[in-house]
Amino acid sequence: MSEDGHDLAREATALDGADALAPLRAAFVLGDDTVYLDGNSLGALPRTVAARLAGVVEQEWGRLGIRSWTESGWWTAPERVGDRIGHLVGAAPGQVVAGDSTSVNVFKAVVAAVRLAGPGRDEILVDAQTFPTDGYIAASAARLTGCRIRAVAAGEVPRAAGERTAVALVNHVDYRTGRLHDLPGITAAVHAAGARVVWDLCHSAGALPVELDADGVDFAVGCTYKYLNGGPGSPAYLYVRRELQPRFDSPLPGWNSHADPFAMSPDYTPAQGSARGRVGTPAILSLLALEAALEVWDGVHLAAVRAKSLALTDFFLRCVEAYVPQGAVESVTPAVHGERGSQVSLRCPSGAGAVMEELVRRGVVGDFRQPDVLRFGFAPLYTRFADAESAARVLAEAVAP
Ligand SMILES: *Cc1c(COP(=O)(O)O)cnc(C)c1O
Repeated sequence: MSEDGHDLAREATALDGADALAPLRAAFVLGDDTVYLDGNSLGALPRTVAARLAGVVEQEWGRLGIRSWTESGWWTAPERVGDRIGHLVGAAPGQVVAGDSTSVNVFKAVVAAVRLAGPGRDEILVDAQTFPTDGYIAASAARLTGCRIRAVAAGEVPRAAGERTAVALVNHVDYRTGRLHDLPGITAAVHAAGARVVWDLCHSAGALPVELDADGVDFAVGCTYKYLNGGPGSPAYLYVRRELQPRFDSPLPGWNSHADPFAMSPDYTPAQGSARGRVGTPAILSLLALEAALEVWDGVHLAAVRAKSLALTDFFLRCVEAYVPQGAVESVTPAVHGERGSQVSLRCPSGAGAVMEELVRRGVVGDFRQPDVLRFGFAPLYTRFADAESAARVLAEAVAP
């Protein structure tokens, strides 16, 4: 044990006391006895959501009924909520639309990117370590568009992109290891090869600054139930860069994306702007729960979120080093800040699944990913330094024979 447990516990208390984001925890429904480190899988419940949803159900749906599509702003909610998400990922208004799942938005973006590609570009580069759904969807998009898939590590995308490449689909943060990829550098390299890039922001939006406009990103997708706390199955989002919107040819041109949906025309004329990324009738209850959940971000600076995230993960790694017997776990999350997202993944060669079950039983909620990874997500809006210290302490007991 390289550091004393009492010292680390005291240090955690001091760090929490000095943390400017600490008061935000009160905006979430979380027990003081819960060490919730799974906000990278399902974000905690913001307090504003229950009352807002009750109001939507009773007043907007119950009393106003169908009038709410216009009078309660239901019809325009996908663009309104999209702009709110855009604010958190460096997108000026009018480029993000909320709706559908990440998987569906990956499909829209990848097919649309291939349709934008010049002649002879018939290759889709896919992050070899991608979250599986992105790979499955990209493979289907390739079959539909006559492209072939090439899987390469995200770091290899700049070298792999060439004159045959139509689009590269890359995860900003690797869901398993927590590795942060170089979004500006990869984007610039893919553009230099004459191709487009689709970024999956599932594990970065709400955890660290993302600058879609400034970095020239073509397309981006992400979910909202992880660091954005939108709730189980909350709508995902699609970003289409403003310059590309007039040429964005959606493979799912549902009636909600029509320029004049209520004309009920047999002919399709796409809407202008982000609405072109819509498909069918939005899941209004989930969408408005998400809108309420996003209120906690008002006045929060992503730079402060990032600073706390790195401090939390650094501190957790120190606690693990101090408490957990040598060799029982090994971090697969990069030590370098520039390559780290907001989680710590520990490879646990012996019985990782059972270790996580024991952690959860003792109130430390992380998760397990095949084959041997323990994941601990640090959602900076509500995770305490004391949580990091407790989790490492309980982990040390759980791995002990
Ligand atoms: C969580 C996650 C998804 C989830 O996709 P859904 O269609 O919303 O279920 C997709 N991609 C990545 C990288 C993820 O981390």
